[in-house]
Amino acid sequence: MSDDVLILKGISKAYHKGKESQIKVLDDASVTVGRGELVALVAPSGAGKSTLLHIAGLLDTPDSGRVTIKGQDYSDKSDRRRTAARRQDVGFIYQFHHLLAEFTALENIVLPQLANCVSRNEADEYARHLLGEVGLASRADHRPAEMSGGEQQRVAFCRALANRPALLLADEPTGNLDPSTSDQVFEALMTLVRGSGLSALIATHNPELAARMDRTLHLENGRLV
Ligand code: ADP
Repeated sequence: MSDDVLILKGISKAYHKGKESQIKVLDDASVTVGRGELVALVAPSGAGKSTLLHIAGLLDTPDSGRVTIKGQDYSDKSDRRRTAARRQDVGFIYQFHHLLAEFTALENIVLPQLANCVSRNEADEYARHLLGEVGLASRADHRPAEMSGGEQQRVAFCRALANRPALLLADEPTGNLDPSTSDQVFEALMTLVRGSGLSALIATHNPELAARMDRTLHLENGRLV
């Protein structure tokens, strides 16, 4: 088996506007992300980054092209198989944290593990480990409302990694934060990703953040270059 974690091959996607016109968002876009590789996806707003990440994470289907994750081609698989793969192999991070307000930081990282049949003790231990990695060991029992935006986002990173995915997909993960916080929070993300050896495709329009990754891809006219 190849060591590639994500292969997108010839992905095209258009959205229809009214009866006749359509916008071609992706046009024969291809990329391969190897094990442990961090790839930046750089493009201006509206270029199709979210569309590409949703297709890569099996949340959306392309009009044509193939999506392979850990050697398995999911292009023609049932919704059930795609959902199982998404739960097991893919972690998502969005611009907004989407943490559950009524639960603590620790619980937000424990819950997805319990849903994945991990024991409470083991889930707690791993959640504490992840919080320690992003410098939030002392905030385990705090609810999201008691944390700053940067702290909330760091907890969201831990939650995305809770079930040890092979692939992390992030859509402007620090886009909601002020520049100095953004820098620190991004550093925490890099520590987590490098520490766990997972592969990541991270959309950003910040060239300085992109430069800290292994490789940068630009989305231009629907293609990855
Ligand atoms: P980005 O993440 O780079 O900002 P998106 O992938 O969100 O870009 O969007 C790319 C283009 O596709 C935009 O022009 C957007 O308006 C359009 N688009 C995205 N989702 C839909 C949809 N569900 N229906 C129609 N147009 C859409």
